[in-house]
This record gives sequence, C-alpha cells and structure tokens, in this order.
Amino acid sequence: MKPSKNRLQIQDKYFVPYLSEQEMQQRVQELGKQIATDYSDKKPLLLCILNGSFVFAADLVRTMDTVCQVSFLKYSSYVKDKSSEEAKDLLGIKGLNEELKDRHLIVVEDIVDTGTTMNKLLKELDTHHPASIEIATCLFKPDALKFDISPKYVAFSIPNHFVIGYGLDYDNYGRHLSGIYIVDED
Ligand code: 5GP
Repeated sequence: MKPSKNRLQIQDKYFVPYLSEQEMQQRVQELGKQIATDYSDKKPLLLCILNGSFVFAADLVRTMDTVCQVSFLKYSSYVKDKSSEEAKDLLGIKGLNEELKDRHLIVVEDIVDTGTTMNKLLKELDTHHPASIEIATCLFKPDALKFDISPKYVAFSIPNHFVIGYGLDYDNYGRHLSGIYIVDED
C-alpha cells in the first residue's frame, strides 16, 4: 500500500485526489456560462437528480446568468416492488409543481455511468411532451455507457473507475469533499 498524505480511507476503500476544488469550480463556471448563453431566451427548467447532484447543481445554477427554474427529483433506475414504486413518486416526476409540457428541460446529474438511470428518466420525461431535453452532468464515463444517450453538457469525462466527492458518495460518505477523489486499488 502506497503511503500518501492525501489518501483518504472511507469504510473499506481508499481514495486519492483526482480533480481539485479549483478545477471543479473553473470548469463548472465555464459550463454554466455556456448553458446560460444557449438558453438565454428559453427559460429552462433544471431538474436536478438527488442525492448526488446537489453540489454540482448549486454551483452550476449560481454561474447561470439567465432566467431559469430549478426543481429536484429523486430518481431510481430500479424498482423492487410496488411499495418502492409509490415511494419513488414522492420526489419523482409526479411530485413536481412545474408543468413539463413545452418546457426546455435540463436534467442535472452527478455522473452518467452505464446510463441506465438517465435512459429511463429521459423516456419518462419524454411522455410529458417537453419542448426539449438536454443533460448536464458533472462527470461522464464514456467507456461504461450502455445506452444511446449523449449528454450535451459535461464538466469532465473520466475513466471507468469509482469516484467520490463533490456530491458523490461511497456508502453515503464523502459527499462533502470539494474535489473529486478516485478509488485507489493499490
Ligand atoms: P448509471 O445508471 O449511469 O449506471 O449510474 C447512475 C448512478 O450511479 C449515478 O447517479 C450515481 O449515483 C451512481 N454512480 C455511478 N458511477 C459512480 C461513481 O463512480 N461514483 C459514485 N459515487 N456513484 C456512481
């Protein structure tokens, strides 16, 4: 095991710094400005996916100098039984106050990995007939993608390894970290 003063232990795993707080802030600011320009006359509705996107969404929207609305969805790509289907709806699409029809939607996600979650969500959103749907994701693992989806706004494309920080967790720990940490397999 390599000694490193920046190496973090969370539960049974070790993580090392991958993207610094400065890199995150700079890139998210660029992305927010790009989105604000692209949507300057569209009053977009940002749908932020909990829990992981809360840090990214908070930083992103504060760099967007344009009229927009922000709402939150808790969305799961799998449903075990009927009772969990009902629980999903508490913070799901049906729980939104905003009408989705004819709106320009931006789904704000922490990470697109296999794309399972996003693929299912996009299909469901589409049934509400929005004017447009785009994805803004903090991280994207192109090598892990299994569905035909292409996020338009990506802060960073990363290799297919497990990461935490900046809202992303391991066993619900590590969300508070200001930068991204990558699992250290050594
Ligand atoms: P997907 O459906 O694209 O395979 O995965 C989506 C969800 O899996 C993400 O929203 C995130 O919660 C979780 N996930 C995927 N990859 C990672 C990762 O590297 N780190 C963490 N912390 N969560 C991940």
